[in-house]
Amino acid sequence: MTALKEHIVKLIGRQGPITVAHYMELALTHPEFGYYISGDPLGSEGDFTTSPEISQMFGELIGLFFVDYWLGMGSPSPVHFVELGPGRGTLMADALRAIEVVPGLREALKVHFIEVSPPLMEAQKKAVPDANWHNSMDDIPPGVSFIIANEFFDCLPIRQFVKTDPGWAERMIDVEDGELVLGVGEASGPPLPEGGFRPGDIKEASPQAAFWIGAMAQRLKAAGGLALIIDYGYDQPGAGDTFQAVKNHQPVGVLAEPGVSDLTAHVDFLNLVEKAENLGLAVYGPLSQGNFLENIGIEHRAGKLLDSANQKQKKQILSAVDRLVSPEEMGGLFKVLCLGKKNTVPPASFSPPEAD
Ligand code: SAH
Repeated sequence: MTALKEHIVKLIGRQGPITVAHYMELALTHPEFGYYISGDPLGSEGDFTTSPEISQMFGELIGLFFVDYWLGMGSPSPVHFVELGPGRGTLMADALRAIEVVPGLREALKVHFIEVSPPLMEAQKKAVPDANWHNSMDDIPPGVSFIIANEFFDCLPIRQFVKTDPGWAERMIDVEDGELVLGVGEASGPPLPEGGFRPGDIKEASPQAAFWIGAMAQRLKAAGGLALIIDYGYDQPGAGDTFQAVKNHQPVGVLAEPGVSDLTAHVDFLNLVEKAENLGLAVYGPLSQGNFLENIGIEHRAGKLLDSANQKQKKQILSAVDRLVSPEEMGGLFKVLCLGKKNTVPPASFSPPEAD
């Protein structure tokens, strides 16, 4: 049994069953045993690989996406370049390298990282030495903001509600014979819609996702800029149970090894859109990651890299493009949502919107 599992079993023994969100929060960010607190999970040696770790093109193209918008805004200075959950800092390092071709922008940018993981912060310090680290967006000085969150929203804790005959119940985690088990308890909080669901259906909610959209809205509405949210998720209702655990690139049980396996849930993009619209933001997309990367020129960028690549590098570049873009791979599963201030020029790559 992992140290964290022992801790959770004792906690439930003392105070009764806990919500899925509470479990997920402990598993990922418990101050001593949390998954992101105690190690670096990324890369082929780790538990999962992300787009910026697959290819430098990903971060470079995101950098150039913001360049285009910055020029359209009349080259303001300073600009706060904020990344939520920057992992090893690879995306930001690649983006900053790419934007150096544009005079004045690098000097205008103040880089801010929002991160909970001490080991990943160490990696980020090496990748982007002049970054500033924060726990929340409140600490970042006001001003124009470019915000990026790649595979951040999927690690925010979710609550799960189960439809039963008398109404909605909440999925809870309990202990039986010393082992963690899934059960149900009374649902608290705002009422959920009854229509369109059958007994046994599951609906997920992410209170922290709403919190981060609120924080983005505050900055964007005050001073302008853009936020890009990239994650695996769904843009249709009815996704059901998307809570999952991964270790060494393999699926494992969600209750099996808290603290040493990665726990995530698919991101509900319709819900993010609704939250952003209610807060009065301009909403672009979501597009599939494949469409987005094509719109911002991945083929052109890959062509440039291929020109100076040897045989082995050529194979790697083509395989990376395939993984990032093709609809059967990350290109289809991942979605890209862009938020901005109302009545400002839309980012070129989102208009006209792609049929998805
Ligand atoms: N964006 C990176 C890493 C994705 S992994 C990439 O694409 O490679 C998720 C990242 O979010 C990690 O850096 C993790 O430490 C961070 N993270 C997870 N939960 C967080 C929280 N509640 N607050 C701040 N950072 C968090």
